[in-house]
Amino acid sequence: MNNAGALLADTARRGELHHAVILHGPSAEALRDAAIRIAKALNCLNRTSGDDCLACQRIERRIHPDVHFIEVGSERKLISVEQIRDIVAAAILRPYEGRNKVFIIDPADALSAGGSNSLLKTLEEPVRDTTFILLTRSPDLLLPTIRSRSQAIYVGGNVQRDEELAADIAVLLEQFATKKESAALLAIAAVLAGQEDLSQSMALLAEILCDAAAGRPALAIPRERLLAAADASVFNTRWLMVNADARMIVEQALPALIT
Ligand SMILES: [Zn+2]
Repeated sequence: MNNAGALLADTARRGELHHAVILHGPSAEALRDAAIRIAKALNCLNRTSGDDCLACQRIERRIHPDVHFIEVGSERKLISVEQIRDIVAAAILRPYEGRNKVFIIDPADALSAGGSNSLLKTLEEPVRDTTFILLTRSPDLLLPTIRSRSQAIYVGGNVQRDEELAADIAVLLEQFATKKESAALLAIAAVLAGQEDLSQSMALLAEILCDAAAGRPALAIPRERLLAAADASVFNTRWLMVNADARMIVEQALPALIT
């Protein structure tokens, strides 16, 4: 587990966590882990920052009545106004059995505009014993009104940012975006495959893709493609454990960019 997750859980355990936090970073899994750690720290029966007590077990199994997961329905791409109205209503009730109600919105960039607006008032006037955790690849994907009411915390995969490599990738990505030449993607794969620490380089690629999805810089590639490629970059890093070919790992992450 990364340091950000542990630090957040400890802050939550001391009761010092902001009532609305945005956890952002390239790995959806790392964000979920951090959110669950916070939920445990807020509700652990032994008041640790997460252990094997009944409450922590229930949170882990996603059956704790005070820890709510708000996710995109299988057929829909967005978190709906109705889903948010439900949690706004639930937020004013007292916790059932825990100390804190926790609402994990995963991913918060899937909030519809209506959903975001329904959430604003609740974020503005925090209810006692209630914590909202918004997960996203980048805070820039959220409405400014949501951002200004929350505390954004980066939960990265401890990416060591190699600026030279980042610049090389950015140039090639721009080239792909403007000319739609897959040769530029193959060039990205070649550059990354030549790096000593491929998992770091893939994490860096995911960061760059997330930044682009958030409009930094604005590229002529649809946002969902950029996010899908970022996901694939993080996900494919797993294949490193079975010593798969480095170049193949990168190449397989990039087709997500092609419409
Ligand atoms: Zn516990």
